[in-house]
Amino acid sequence: VKCIGILTSGGDAPGMNAAIRAVTRAAIYNGLQVKGIYRGYKGLVTGEIKEFKSQNVSNIIQLGGTILKTARCKEFTTPEGRQQAYDNMKKEGIDALVVIGGDGSLTGARIFAQEFDVPCIGLPGTIDNDLYGTDTTIGYDTALNTILDAVDKIRDTATSHERLFFVEVMGRDAGFLALNGAIASGAEAAIIPEFSTEVDQLEEFIKNGFRKSKNSSIVLVAESELTGGAMHYAERVKNEYPQYDVRVTILGHLQRGGSPTAHDRILASRLGAAAIDAIMEGQRNVMIGIEHDEVVYVPFTKAIKNDKPIKKELVNVLRALSI
Ligand code: ADP
Repeated sequence: VKCIGILTSGGDAPGMNAAIRAVTRAAIYNGLQVKGIYRGYKGLVTGEIKEFKSQNVSNIIQLGGTILKTARCKEFTTPEGRQQAYDNMKKEGIDALVVIGGDGSLTGARIFAQEFDVPCIGLPGTIDNDLYGTDTTIGYDTALNTILDAVDKIRDTATSHERLFFVEVMGRDAGFLALNGAIASGAEAAIIPEFSTEVDQLEEFIKNGFRKSKNSSIVLVAESELTGGAMHYAERVKNEYPQYDVRVTILGHLQRGGSPTAHDRILASRLGAAAIDAIMEGQRNVMIGIEHDEVVYVPFTKAIKNDKPIKKELVNVLRALSI
């Protein structure tokens, strides 16, 4: 391998810039040439590619978003689109690819690597933390801290008015942000997709906790078709328990932004450097993760299995501490 291409794809996450910087610098440090590919797979298909020197990634470690931009790319899901992407890679002399993104992006990388003889290395970049084989993903910690800031503020007004607040957080079909956000902010409950069909989480919360000893409550709800979202629960409470004063806050895209936390910057830096180590070692088609503070290589198929488990212990902690 002489030249690597780097791209960010799918949903953006704080810390992606720190990862771009780490991959670029580690590659140059190891004598490789680096090309930045803009707008995810789109830039590979259209040829929006530029050589990156060390200065191209100066002063970006602290920035949210991604300087390479990101996009969702329909063409790349077709064999013709991927052929075009491959042709552009060859034209640019790129002989390995580092893809920073979520499970969709890594699925694309897996398929692309299968079709063409191109080493692809994935880095877990998503605030949802839903990739298997890594303790956390780039952006997750920052999003969690953003949620804390917001919930702390909501609590001020919730306690003043004796209200029941449903706060909707992101996470797609994973409850990590909702559950850990609830524990960290001292919220009374979290409604998460992992348990949505097993138990009536609202019923449980109302029966066990709400108004036993408190005059206001905050419930974090993971946005997901499986939970139905915060609005769904607010409507239910309005119908079933009209005595409660219910409010809804949907945090939305503010969870995607902001300067990455120390945790996410360090994670992104370690993963970025490890991606280049992996390429130098001849690894291909793996996602780099960190588990128990060690760098690990996770086959794409395992990383995107989509069943990263939620620890039951965390559910119990929240339950015990919210009485
Ligand atoms: P994320 O990476 O955040 O999960 P998406 O699911 O939107 O985001 O995926 C990002 C991009 O990855 C898609 O726009 C597409 O270009 C590519 N991709 C996703 N799934 C596939 C697939 N099955 N085959 C090829 N490319 C895919």
